[in-house]
Amino acid sequence: MEQYRRVYASIDLDAVKHNMEAMQKNLPKETGMIGVVKADGYGHGSVPIAYAIAPYVSGYAVATAEEGLILRRHGITKPILVLGVSPKKSYPELIAQGIRPTMFTREQMEAFSALACQMGEKSPIHLAVDTGMSRIGMMPDEASADLVKEMGELPGIILEGLFTHFARADEEDILDAKGQMERYLHFVRLLEERGVNIPIKHCANSAGIIRSIGTGLDMVRAGISIYGMYPSDEVEKEPVSLQPVMGLKSFITYIKTIEPGTKVSYGGTFAAPKKMRIATIPVGYGDGYPRNLSGKGWVLIRGKKAPILGRVCMDQFMVDVTEIEGAAEEDPVTLIGRDRDEEILVEDLAKAGGGFHYEIVCDIGKRVPRVYFLEGRVIGTKDYFQDTYQVFFPIS
Ligand SMILES: *Cc1c(COP(=O)(O)O)cnc(C)c1O
Repeated sequence: MEQYRRVYASIDLDAVKHNMEAMQKNLPKETGMIGVVKADGYGHGSVPIAYAIAPYVSGYAVATAEEGLILRRHGITKPILVLGVSPKKSYPELIAQGIRPTMFTREQMEAFSALACQMGEKSPIHLAVDTGMSRIGMMPDEASADLVKEMGELPGIILEGLFTHFARADEEDILDAKGQMERYLHFVRLLEERGVNIPIKHCANSAGIIRSIGTGLDMVRAGISIYGMYPSDEVEKEPVSLQPVMGLKSFITYIKTIEPGTKVSYGGTFAAPKKMRIATIPVGYGDGYPRNLSGKGWVLIRGKKAPILGRVCMDQFMVDVTEIEGAAEEDPVTLIGRDRDEEILVEDLAKAGGGFHYEIVCDIGKRVPRVYFLEGRVIGTKDYFQDTYQVFFPIS
């Protein structure tokens, strides 16, 4: 991208579509998909991802009311579920926009219903059940079942969904996830005994989708796998073949030769053992590139690995190009993605730096424009270069 000559994240929407199809193939025909696009689509851009996955999903899930409103503002009309707890102040907007909140207490549901009635609406909500995550949700017991029955009679709400979330479905041993499913299904039976049937039941995250745990219900919630990453190393790759989606590209700004003993970057943690050629890359932890890759990570230049020397700074870092013949200023640099025969996966960076792959993509910051590719064409871009501060009272 000509206008992005410092750094940009490339987002491969063909890979996104491939990943959706690969998941779909591993699911029972009747099971629908909810696309999880929280945290700005795991750092990939929630809106373009939502557009790309539209043919495959019945709806979307986000973490906050604001994230749901962003999708609505971009013309997305399918159901949206907020996975976290929404503050009461956001209820009017949720009701007006048909965005489903997650609820599990009497107070939440009574307040929401009362407001919906005032607005002349009957609004859908999803119920969270805590089967082992201890994050949010009602306990799967008789008292909760009684509460749900009672709440089903509130005039302003529709009990549309019932879900739980796996804490350990990405571990080699799937016993814990299966235990959560048992508690969830037990709760479903308690509801049925009371004549309550909630139409949209959903439990599986990406790990569940890949390993077919909880996929026999009405829907699943696909997150990390949309973005081409497996939830963990312990999850089998064979059932669903995923393609990486995000690339991170930059350009060399400066190349020089340093003498033996020359120290590189803050703290002088690297000293050249011999005469070396080093390149400066204009990216740093201020862009979300992990500082824990200091002295551990590498980039690709001319299809070859260039190891990071010394500490990653806020906006720059140095790499060794001694062995990369012809390396020159303005050469493209691959921080994530493929360059000829070499490829750097987000998972490689997580492993090298002791980080977490979900976190690395979420943390790619506002200084990094996103460029969207579909069928070999750039179909859109997103950047925050026009970010503005709204002044209420000038500092005099
Ligand atoms: C984030 C999240 C998901 C998606 O999880 P992945 O591991 O990314 O697939 C699903 N459900 C809930 C409740 C979540 O918070």
